[in-house]
Amino acid sequence: MWADWFAFSLNGVFLMNDTQMIQELIDYSRLLFERKLIHASGGNTSVRRGNTVWISRTGAELGALTEDLVVTVDLDGTVINGSAPSKEMGMHLAMYRARPDAGAVIHAHPTFSIAYSTKIKDATHDAVPPFTAAFYVRAGRVPMIPYHPSGAMSLHEAVVDLAPHYHALLLRQHGLLVAGTTMAATLGIVEEIEQCCQIAVLVNGSGEALNSAQCLAIDQAMDRSWQD
Ligand SMILES: [Zn+2]
Repeated sequence: MWADWFAFSLNGVFLMNDTQMIQELIDYSRLLFERKLIHASGGNTSVRRGNTVWISRTGAELGALTEDLVVTVDLDGTVINGSAPSKEMGMHLAMYRARPDAGAVIHAHPTFSIAYSTKIKDATHDAVPPFTAAFYVRAGRVPMIPYHPSGAMSLHEAVVDLAPHYHALLLRQHGLLVAGTTMAATLGIVEEIEQCCQIAVLVNGSGEALNSAQCLAIDQAMDRSWQD
């Protein structure tokens, strides 16, 4: 009975054990591949419980992730178990350090998100047009970071700057970086952004997104605000 009791944190959230955390990472990484949100050995994923992060190994194919391709690190990036973590680990850790409620981070290379990013010239704090309320509820404002090489320190620094203010980032000519409370929630955010970017590409500048008053009503209902 006490074991059951301690399985729940103070806010009532079920805490998974290490094996369950790794299985969650494997299962959702495969879903990302099956839903064509990542390709080949692109993208990387992680889950966090407290100060411990489980992240895909560098070069791992997310569609075929296994336990031995998962690396355990702390929030400073020190390897606790396993070998070389993803070279984009810095982006994941920046999200976790800035967002105590983040339990999962997905870095994916979805086709329409990348396509849409190439149509925007300048970095902006409000890059993805909110064509649906489902998108805006889950993702909210999504800033775009200009192109940086994969794994570059300059990309990590750009993420460090934005992570305290936004949980979803569009990386120009590269993909998405999204943090959420759980893997399921994070995948949902990735899918909503990808769909909105697909709509943006399809309507090619002629579609009408939710207006600022409609977005503000959602923000107020969710008791949240954004940095301009
Ligand atoms: Zn990448």
